[in-house]
Amino acid sequence: MLFAKQFAPGNTFEVYFKLFACCLPVRGAQRSVVCDLQRASYDYIPNALQSILEQDHLLSVGEVLNKYPTQHADTILGYFDFLVEKEYGFYTQQPELFPKMSLAYNHPKLITNAILDIGAQSKYNVLRAIALIELTGCEHLQVRSFVALTEGFFQELDQQIKTSRFRSIEIITKHSPGLSEDFCRLLLQQNPRISQIIVHSAPDEKQEFIYNEVSQCLIHARAPIDSEAHCGYIHPALFSIHLSTFTEAQQFNSCLNRKIAVDQFGNVKNCPSHAASYGAVDDQASLLPIAQQKRFQEIWGVSKDQINVCQDCEFRYICTDCRAYVEAGPLSKPAKCTYDPYAAAWQQPQTTMANQSRLVPA
Ligand code: SF4
Ligand code: SF4
Repeated sequence: MLFAKQFAPGNTFEVYFKLFACCLPVRGAQRSVVCDLQRASYDYIPNALQSILEQDHLLSVGEVLNKYPTQHADTILGYFDFLVEKEYGFYTQQPELFPKMSLAYNHPKLITNAILDIGAQSKYNVLRAIALIELTGCEHLQVRSFVALTEGFFQELDQQIKTSRFRSIEIITKHSPGLSEDFCRLLLQQNPRISQIIVHSAPDEKQEFIYNEVSQCLIHARAPIDSEAHCGYIHPALFSIHLSTFTEAQQFNSCLNRKIAVDQFGNVKNCPSHAASYGAVDDQASLLPIAQQKRFQEIWGVSKDQINVCQDCEFRYICTDCRAYVEAGPLSKPAKCTYDPYAAAWQQPQTTMANQSRLVPA
């Protein structure tokens, strides 16, 4: 055993096991996970180990072993060794040097992310709406079009966002012979703010990944995205295991916090699929008065710890949420999640959500 190799049996009261500050255990109904926010990964651990890590983190290894029946000593040391071998934790004789990390979340921007939808019926001024979104300080924008966007539109958008304050822009558009792969590739190369172009409704012969660089990609998806209902999927491939999203999810909604949306009819909303509208975007001189409204911000504070079923799920701080498509009632689980934390199982075969992407990139 690793522990036995490093420390004499008499020293157990001077040695402590500590998790690295960026490795945080989260308890679920059946099992727990330890999330490594630095390496964006997680591992399953038993709930018994989560209890030791949470409740006994101030105790030395010897005190932990004394607390539980003798026959569990090897198992507990095996758990600690497992975490050391996987580089989630370490043994130390100076535990006071390794305080826990604060999980407080704050952000200087009132709006951090936005969705703007374009459909066949859209009559609002899209480029003006994007300019208004930018003026809120928004960092991440998704432009989601249910119809084919022309190369002319892309060129106008490119000019507008080149000197903008957006950090990333994801563009979803319908396939059209008028939008060439070479054009999209060049656009990505010339404008590093564009993180993804997803071309949906693509014909079968199209290759899925056309351009796949570290922070940019061009994707063909076979599935059509013909309405705002193509949203809200929960899938492990979409988990976000990062300090900012993990801390945000402690207190805030993991989809709608600090989000603003313009639906395909030009209505300003929390989410394009919500019924509540805060006015036509064309009528606004600024979106800030809407974003500052108490009623608009109410949904921002609905964290996973308040949502039925999710509050017992070990993935609650790393999975996304959906407050538009829910099982029943405002505090119920997202309808498109098939995970059952009480059985620790996904209820249907998991499929690749090629048409779903994270709005806030890693
Ligand atoms: S609340 Fe649901 S439908 Fe609305 S943006 Fe979030 S995931 Fe999409
Ligand atoms: S049950 Fe809730 S927290 Fe768990 S994976 Fe589904 S949506 Fe996420």
